[in-house]
Amino acid sequence: MTEAQATPQTGKRVLLAKPRGYCAGVDRAVQTVEEALTLYGAPIYVRKQIVHNKHVVQTLEAKGAIFVEENDEVPEGATVIFSAHGVAPEVHEQARARSLRAIDATCPLVTKVHHEAKRFAAEDYDILLIGHEGHEEVVGTTGEAPAHIQLVDGPEDADRVTVRDPEKVVWLSQTTLSVDETLETVARLKKRLPMLQSPPSDDICYATSNRQQVVKEIAPQCDVVIVVGSRNSSNSVRLVEVALDAGARAGYLVDFASEIDDAWLAGARTVGLTSGASVPDELVQEVLAHLAVRGFADVEEIVTANERLTFSLPQELKRDMRAAAAARS
Ligand code: SF4
Repeated sequence: MTEAQATPQTGKRVLLAKPRGYCAGVDRAVQTVEEALTLYGAPIYVRKQIVHNKHVVQTLEAKGAIFVEENDEVPEGATVIFSAHGVAPEVHEQARARSLRAIDATCPLVTKVHHEAKRFAAEDYDILLIGHEGHEEVVGTTGEAPAHIQLVDGPEDADRVTVRDPEKVVWLSQTTLSVDETLETVARLKKRLPMLQSPPSDDICYATSNRQQVVKEIAPQCDVVIVVGSRNSSNSVRLVEVALDAGARAGYLVDFASEIDDAWLAGARTVGLTSGASVPDELVQEVLAHLAVRGFADVEEIVTANERLTFSLPQELKRDMRAAAAARS
């Protein structure tokens, strides 16, 4: 018998958000490291955290992945994987200069933003990139066209922007921002720059929007919303903010169930639970088990979207996998 089954009815409940957890880009990035370990053998070097999740990184380290900050930490000729957040072109050049076998696990939806940046830069636009200063994705996107891109880090930053030609300016964004805050930033930019153009399609990705949407739905009914995710995960941090903005009385971010403080649950009847796009569902299941033994055994899943998107593995890895399969047959 599980702990949850042994718990009597208490009237306390959990509203479990769906969609939550892994998105298509994270799934692909993690699989890329796993397949590379199988194909080439350990160690495999990974530049930056492959995805922003402590548990995922620790699990891959145990299988033989070595996480580094820069290419110059990778031995010449070794295999290096670039993370889902994307890299600037100079990172590819450094890898070539060190004869590294580079596999690019950048999420295709981040690559899409890189293409937009290159295209607008080629047309000599000023590009206002809405995002968080220092975030790897922002560093990578900016590297595509540093002379044309200015960072706008939130609505307050909008007032500081200066452009060469107010009729030739476009905004792009990091993929994992708060949808509402980004709209606020754009509105503020448009007050000063009425001709500001929007990206050809949404830069905030489907996974970020969907996870925020369902949290907005459940938060007004929740005494507490718990988001499973790491502190350096932009989309996970945004989920706590969205929950609080949408009416949750309290919101917390935890990497693991063991971080939940019983004081957070004191007096609560309804707990909302979700997870960031880089979080494997086993961590959410551990939180559910943790809550069940504290009387929150009644779980209702609230579904606002069904996600079916998947991405195929990076071409360079698929090519080597095909060659290895052909050599075996
Ligand atoms: S959060 Fe969005 S952009 Fe980031 S890896 Fe997932 S799908 Fe790609």
